[in-house]
Amino acid sequence: MAYQLDNRPLDLRERFYFPEVIRGIGTLAGHFLRNLFFSRDANPDILARPRGLGYSDNVTLQYPEEKAPYPPGYRGLHRLVPREDGSPRCVACYMCATACPAQCIYIEAAEVPGDPIEKYPAKFVIDELRCVVCGFCVEACPKDAIRMDTGEHAPPSLERVHQLLDEKALLRGPAVSYLSDPWLRRPAPSIPAEALAAMTASARPYPDASDEYAQTPGFSVKALAAEARERAERAGTP
Ligand code: SF4
Ligand code: SF4
Repeated sequence: MAYQLDNRPLDLRERFYFPEVIRGIGTLAGHFLRNLFFSRDANPDILARPRGLGYSDNVTLQYPEEKAPYPPGYRGLHRLVPREDGSPRCVACYMCATACPAQCIYIEAAEVPGDPIEKYPAKFVIDELRCVVCGFCVEACPKDAIRMDTGEHAPPSLERVHQLLDEKALLRGPAVSYLSDPWLRRPAPSIPAEALAAMTASARPYPDASDEYAQTPGFSVKALAAEARERAERAGTP
């Protein structure tokens, strides 16, 4: 139903103007004093905050002194995931750039010296200002080489160029390895044999025992692995 405007004529008190101004100031002062001294927002996150001087009881965060923790599925700033030896997992396949609806990923591929198969991103730039934080790049990546698990949002800057993150800025965070990684399963000329053995021994997809680095909310690699194990046990296969 259409919103009905209150077009009734002003009564005598409203036409005197000052009583209404005083009534408005009273309403404002009431909200101000209640927020200052008595308000405790019903939101559990607000109730869980410490009380006292310097802490707000209102829903407004005193940012940047007070920061709200982001949920595990939060899509933060990108990072290029390193291997155990510090090199990027990225093999410069362009799938993330192809999937990106904002066209904000720029990649230049190069061949790993002495390796006839392996490629790496000589240049990998993301324009965080154009990014729409959709996470398609993370989903498209076949190597789990790009994640948005930093828990950070793009920091403020005065110039656009500061929002262009290159491969040096992006390559950070805990290393990630899978035993199925091709560079662990075949002799990689770029990785010495001892380093390869150490990488294989420490291969793990998550930096600690938690599964919170899974990119998709509700998606758990551990839960899927447990289900697969159960299915295999039921079927009598090891
Ligand atoms: S999050 Fe979306 S918009 Fe941002 S770089 Fe990835 S695919 Fe592109
Ligand atoms: S980040 Fe992943 S999808 Fe993007 S180029 Fe590298 S390997 Fe391919």
